Amino acid sequence: MRSESTANEISKLLGSLREHVKFLSELGVETVELAEHPVGESSAVASVVTRSLNSPSTAGANLKKISPPESPAMTTRKGTIISAPQNTLFGDLGPPAPSVLQSSETLEDVWRDIGDCTRCGLCEGRTQIVNTHGNPKARLMFVGEAPGADEDAQGKPFVGRAGQLLTKIIEAIGMKREEVLIGNVNRCRPPGNRQPTLEEAAICRPFLFREIAAVQPDVIVVLGNTALRNLLETREGITRVRGQFQNFRGIKVMPTFHPAYLLRDPSKKKETWEDLKKVRDYLDGLRQSQSNARPD
Ligand code: URA
Repeated sequence: MRSESTANEISKLLGSLREHVKFLSELGVETVELAEHPVGESSAVASVVTRSLNSPSTAGANLKKISPPESPAMTTRKGTIISAPQNTLFGDLGPPAPSVLQSSETLEDVWRDIGDCTRCGLCEGRTQIVNTHGNPKARLMFVGEAPGADEDAQGKPFVGRAGQLLTKIIEAIGMKREEVLIGNVNRCRPPGNRQPTLEEAAICRPFLFREIAAVQPDVIVVLGNTALRNLLETREGITRVRGQFQNFRGIKVMPTFHPAYLLRDPSKKKETWEDLKKVRDYLDGLRQSQSNARPD
């Protein structure tokens, strides 16, 4: 009886391991080694090491700015400079810029202010507002475009098919979904899942900026054009700037493809994996330099 249930357990484990390896190989991962140190704050999982996929780094994009929107909650913070991981693997990552975000707000304060929002027309078609979700102390944040049907029904970002792929991407860099923060530029589902208009995005994104100021993650991954353009106030496209660290008020921003796009064109998973490895390495370097700096 007991050996039968153990056999079942092993067979289940092998099944999920097979599925995970298949996903990693779709991402272009060639070698998997067991980590000697925990990767991520609470996970001791396999550290993924790739060979032949480490492309040379590229210089940061020269992004064209459009007029910056005002976000009243952001003021300059003097004197807080996060020390740089010195021995980084990629040349496009210089010393991090000083953090320029300051906020005494919590996520709940921001959500209270959003209330039962009717600031734009998207409120008419929504079932519910989909606020940013996840760890309020997250070091890593993901930003997408706007909720789809599943998110509108469940009230949480990235819970549909694209969300399931996002979860796998997060796990591929050795983290858990509960460790990160996930949000969108717009919080109400646009009719027929159309892109939010410039005006709708401009009305909603200050709340995202306030959440970012409240949490102050070390890295924000922007998923696709809408997130890229609204966070960095640029007209550049994701294909040109993906994989190159950008800066949002002192926070590292990594642009990459939206998971919904990866579902339509799985061949792009390889590039996404390249981008996410840079994020993982940056966070590992930061953690390392912070633990070295800590007095015994
Ligand atoms: N696509 C997004 O951009 N956000 C979601 O929350 C879900 C799908």
